[in-house]
Amino acid sequence: MQNEKVFIFDTTLRDGEQSPGAVLKPDEKLEIALALEKLGVDIIEAGFPVSSPGDFRAVKTIAKRVKKPIICALARAVEKDIKIAWQSVKDAQKSRIHTFIGTSDIHIKRQFKKTREEILEVVAQRIKQSRSYTDDVQLGLMDASRSNIEFLCKVIKVGLKVGVRTFDVADTVGYRLPWEISRLIKKIREEVKAIKNKTIAVHCHNDLGLATANALAAIRAGVRQIDCTINGIGERAGNTSLEEVVMALKVRQNKLKLITNINSKEIYPTSRLVSKLTHMPIQPNKAIVGRHAFAHASGIHQDGYLKHKQTYEIMRPTDIGLKHSRIVLGARSGRHALKYRLSLLGFSPSDEQLVKIYKKFLKIADKKRIVTNKDLRVIMEEE
Ligand code: MN
Repeated sequence: MQNEKVFIFDTTLRDGEQSPGAVLKPDEKLEIALALEKLGVDIIEAGFPVSSPGDFRAVKTIAKRVKKPIICALARAVEKDIKIAWQSVKDAQKSRIHTFIGTSDIHIKRQFKKTREEILEVVAQRIKQSRSYTDDVQLGLMDASRSNIEFLCKVIKVGLKVGVRTFDVADTVGYRLPWEISRLIKKIREEVKAIKNKTIAVHCHNDLGLATANALAAIRAGVRQIDCTINGIGERAGNTSLEEVVMALKVRQNKLKLITNINSKEIYPTSRLVSKLTHMPIQPNKAIVGRHAFAHASGIHQDGYLKHKQTYEIMRPTDIGLKHSRIVLGARSGRHALKYRLSLLGFSPSDEQLVKIYKKFLKIADKKRIVTNKDLRVIMEEE
């Protein structure tokens, strides 16, 4: 059986850019879009064009310059938004309109001040409008995870009738647990049989730190498009992080039998670029792309790693575009690690000498958080 493909819908330039203080200039958005193309994402959600003239221009430029992925623009289910979204992406080789509406009672009543019936009407009209521009229409079901399931399925059925190709089930507030997401997707597939020829996507938020787990649970239940961002940036605690979902699928491919189009070697450079341009540092222990994700500091781990890498690593640093792992020297490091780091500097002390050097090393290590090459050279000069 051939491995099935999961489509990667990158929303770094839309939801990611909605992180506090992360707004990008049009030329910066283009630079990231070109990096995403190189990374191999299937769809780039380039922006929310109605939100500002600058964003409209940025999306339009990306649509003209970025060739391989589908270029998508976000629009509320509002006539003007959809019109402007289409104007911004129509020059792309492949373009998509993503229009969204709230489906939970709390969003319908409190935010939209509408009734459920009115929502169904709006969906029918706005999808018809979108379809008059393009066949590739995605319907975003905002707050789907807190919606009445019968009503949610009704909205999807209306969407199917008017030609929606992708249904984006959103856990907008990051509330759901993985098994609940999985149950929700299964329920939709049972209730709306005709959805089997369309794509179901999920848009997960990370408020409980569960965005990646929820995305994977959704994939397990039949979802084949994941909304995600580089470094997991996005509203509040952010979105599903692209690198986590992609590497989970890659590292566990034997088990999951799924593939993506991502060239994983481009993950690290893209991560650095997005961090730099959005002014959002990456937490050191961030999965996959954090500074410590391929660093070993404790003696037992260093010893095991130096004997055989797979004792403490499930992927190779080169898989994500890093040159090598790092052996960091500190007070919890062992002799094996010290010897290795000295060898990188061209020193090859005998075992006897190493005992003495290690004692000196520990004295420094107890005072400093990290022992550097400079410190090592000082020790060796004394010897
Ligand atoms: Mn979102």
